[in-house]
Amino acid sequence: MTERFSADRGGPMVVATGLVRDYPSGDGTVHALRGIDLRVERGQLVAVRGRSGSGKTTLLNLLGGLDRPNAGQVMVDGDEVTTMNESALVDFRRRTVAFIFQAFGLLPILSAAENVEVPLRLVRADPRARDARVEELLDLVGLGSRAGHRPHEMSGGEQQRVAIARALANRPKLLLADEPTGQLDSHTGHAIMGLLRTVVRTEGVTAVVATHDPALLDLADRVVEIHDGLLTEAAPAAPVAPV
Ligand code: ADP
Ligand code: MG
Repeated sequence: MTERFSADRGGPMVVATGLVRDYPSGDGTVHALRGIDLRVERGQLVAVRGRSGSGKTTLLNLLGGLDRPNAGQVMVDGDEVTTMNESALVDFRRRTVAFIFQAFGLLPILSAAENVEVPLRLVRADPRARDARVEELLDLVGLGSRAGHRPHEMSGGEQQRVAIARALANRPKLLLADEPTGQLDSHTGHAIMGLLRTVVRTEGVTAVVATHDPALLDLADRVVEIHDGLLTEAAPAAPVAPV
């Protein structure tokens, strides 16, 4: 892989500036994002809180290179995502960034292990290294004994664990989770958020997690709030001692 010399890999993992995203809608326009600035430091878990329709998914899609803004810039790991061509974006989405969705998105005919293997096959990882990584990841998410099970044989929480293992397969630098607990009961949801907290530490990844569930925010290093397409810093998740 060629390194671009302009990349500043020592700075924040994410620097988004002035993000605007408008969607045409009927006769008018929906202003989904109206000028968002966001910096995410390396190794942090940042929660993006906001009501349904506030712009969380739009923001994550822009950070992950699934969509382009009408204005503004996204830098991830020192590279500008907003100006990448299609082949650079494919590489970016395979190696640098990984998504976790509310609906898990596992392939139903594949076993847990085979689902985790998919991204490793896409980058043509060496088969021995691939098998070792799959085993390591299934152990990490607590599913070492369920490797051969298909999604329909697993609970929602277990399926989301497989999706987290799959997301981590190629050692992404940035994990983007869009309401990862939205289909889970509150107890399982909290366990999944705890697992994300763990993998941010053990895998050294940076994570941005969109959620409207206030019970999950205590596990974040930082909480930002999105409201009508604008971002504000939310109060710290834990009370700050007076000085
Ligand atoms: P959230 O994830 O916080 O629920 P979204 O980012 O999905 O919010 O949506 C933000 C706003 O943009 C909403 O008003 C939504 O209806 C609108 N929107 C999202 N995607 C589209 C689209 N593809 N076309 C038109 N409007 C959209
Ligand atoms: Mg959404």
